[in-house]
Amino acid sequence: MKKSIEIIHGDTSGVAYSFPVYRFAGSDPNAPNAYLQAALHAGELPGTAAIHMLMPKLRKAEAEGRIRGDITIVPEANPVGRAQYTFGDRQGRFHLGTRTNFNRDFPRLERPDPKLIPPDGALATADQRLKARLLGLSLGHKIVLDLHCDDEGVPYLYVPAVLWPAMADCASALGVDAVILWEGRSDAEFEEASIYPYTQSAADLAGRVVTTVEFRGVADVDRTLAEGDGAGLYRILVARGVVEDASIAKPAPFAGVVAPIRNVEMIRSPRAGTVLYDVKPGDRVKAGDRLATVVHAPGEDDGTVEIRAPQAGYILTRRSVRSLRVHEDVLKLVGDAPSATAKPGSLEA
Ligand SMILES: [Zn+2]
Repeated sequence: MKKSIEIIHGDTSGVAYSFPVYRFAGSDPNAPNAYLQAALHAGELPGTAAIHMLMPKLRKAEAEGRIRGDITIVPEANPVGRAQYTFGDRQGRFHLGTRTNFNRDFPRLERPDPKLIPPDGALATADQRLKARLLGLSLGHKIVLDLHCDDEGVPYLYVPAVLWPAMADCASALGVDAVILWEGRSDAEFEEASIYPYTQSAADLAGRVVTTVEFRGVADVDRTLAEGDGAGLYRILVARGVVEDASIAKPAPFAGVVAPIRNVEMIRSPRAGTVLYDVKPGDRVKAGDRLATVVHAPGEDDGTVEIRAPQAGYILTRRSVRSLRVHEDVLKLVGDAPSATAKPGSLEA
């Protein structure tokens, strides 16, 4: 394994950011190669913890000569967001200098050619330089896993619809509960930018894996979960022939929820207040079931408003905070039918 350090220059003199990259060299140039990154949203750490648990398995495989395809790993992909604190809270999701989400506006390359990655000198801000660098590091890998988490949620994947059901083995290997399929063009998330150069030809898609992994909620970071998730990542690498390991069984058929992104209902709060949930991620609901009550005038008989399911479905996520502004997201419901408010693209909002 080789470790190298990437440097991202800041927007003012004297400021630079760095992050390590770990590379395992495969023995077979024809074997699939893999790129894993975590914490692009800098406060989302389940993937970082999972990679920490994966690394000893890879070092053992390397020592035993079982790594067939090259593996590139970035456990903490966003040193810019990691350093952003305002009033004691980390702001790891948006770049403060540009107000841009760290997982939007990646370069879209017309073909998988590293020469098309914009050079640092052509990019105005540190977040743009970071995005170009990460896309450049990932380019050319058959398997690209971007490890995130939701607020509170079941483990689930976003997968380009063109890679489904070919990627069902990955969902099963990782042990996620749900898969959301997207198509079309949206806001150039890392996942979309990773598949984009290859969507021109069906041959380029064979054997390809691109996904945003949502490893449950932001507080679901502990040793047991990390060990399980690290083992899941390892199972993907074995299932796809990047690592050899005869002790790992082939993934079973995927038995979780699979739905197109247009079925996802973003349920929003009609009032500001304190939210009391009736449901948790993983629950099934019927149309009209009460999902939550918002207490907008505490202490008054008519001080609450109920939020009901617009259709039958599956609770994918909910908020980790219990105080809501008006029209703020309350939860994501995967409906059995398309949502009336669906928009195209790889993420809902
Ligand atoms: Zn994220």
